[in-house]
Amino acid sequence: MKDIQNKGMMTRIIHAGQHVDPQTGAVSTPIYQTSTFAFKDADHGAACFGGAPGYKYTRLGNPTTEALENNIATLEHGCGALGAASGMAAVNMVYLTLLGQGAHAVATESLYGPSRMILESEYPRFGVESSFVDSSDPQNVAAAMRDNTKLVYVETPANPTLILTDIKACAEIAHEKGALLAVDNTFASPYLQNPLELGADIVLHSMTKFINGHTDVVAGIVVAKEPEVLARLRKVHYNMGGTMDPHQAWLVLRGVKSLGLRMERAQENALKLATFLEKHPKISWIRYPGLESHPQHELMRRQMRGGGAVMSFGVKGGLEAGKTLINNVQVPALAVSLGGIESLIEHPASMTHAGIPQEERMAAHISDDLVRIAVGCETYADLEADMARVLDMI
Ligand SMILES: *Cc1c(COP(=O)(O)O)cnc(C)c1O
Repeated sequence: MKDIQNKGMMTRIIHAGQHVDPQTGAVSTPIYQTSTFAFKDADHGAACFGGAPGYKYTRLGNPTTEALENNIATLEHGCGALGAASGMAAVNMVYLTLLGQGAHAVATESLYGPSRMILESEYPRFGVESSFVDSSDPQNVAAAMRDNTKLVYVETPANPTLILTDIKACAEIAHEKGALLAVDNTFASPYLQNPLELGADIVLHSMTKFINGHTDVVAGIVVAKEPEVLARLRKVHYNMGGTMDPHQAWLVLRGVKSLGLRMERAQENALKLATFLEKHPKISWIRYPGLESHPQHELMRRQMRGGGAVMSFGVKGGLEAGKTLINNVQVPALAVSLGGIESLIEHPASMTHAGIPQEERMAAHISDDLVRIAVGCETYADLEADMARVLDMI
């Protein structure tokens, strides 16, 4: 489709990067399940390895993976994208490309657990230092910047606190010091937020979540705004080897087609459920960016196109009450992950963030009573009735 970049969001989601196969007319992008590609002759092989267009070997590029990369690059308004074996392979691609001996990173304190853990416990082995700050106030990011800061890494909305970070303000702070800003956009998805349009240099996703949306694939992607940054990322990625497999890419291509429909429905359910929970006497607090009571609701309106489908809340009675809730709900599955077509509920203090000492968890606003729910696309009345029944048990 010509001029795809200027088409509407739903059209871009469904068509960007995809072409009717010229040989067979296949409408669905074929799975090029091959590890290697034959050259026409020695000169053709030499040209391909010299940088001419053409496929060489699947770790270095594959047409199915490339269709997905072009799709997400278009949705995020980037110059190109690199598919990765998992969201963490995408996070590591960014860290490994931008950080090295003597470098410093500034990051959101309540990052996705492993994204923080590798910066804290692995990168120091390579001479990299990191500062973790409450990035909901850009002043904290500015105060942590050093002359050797190479990367500002933010997650917004952050997991599982649903705290937001002002992307535009952080881009200015990073660029003033010659650092790049990378944003983990997993919680919003490209449907609701486009960090590159707000000044970020790199955006990444765990496509395991909203982009694929069917709880059946683990995958990640990194999108760059500038070709120079994309080339640096590509060199590290292709040689480190955390690349995508074409079958995995095809599954995500299939999932992303319904991203807009799923987000609309899940977000509608989430706003209704948040409104119900906010008024419920058994709920002590709730944080959902779509509610006017969220302390950064105005920022959500400025940089997102909706509050998303994930919320966290506290149940009166603390840890025990929280356990009763998650042990008795029937519609959401008790599972980590989010962004699937089905609702999932989890308790970070005993599950995803159990590896972080309690003091650090509290400092990062992850209280023991925090329950996170990723709302899916089920019939809303069933979600509310299920929650009401369980809250009555507490
Ligand atoms: C899940 C997640 C990741 C890691 O992705 P995987 O696909 O599980 O490797 C990174 N960031 C955020 C915000 C996530 O939710």
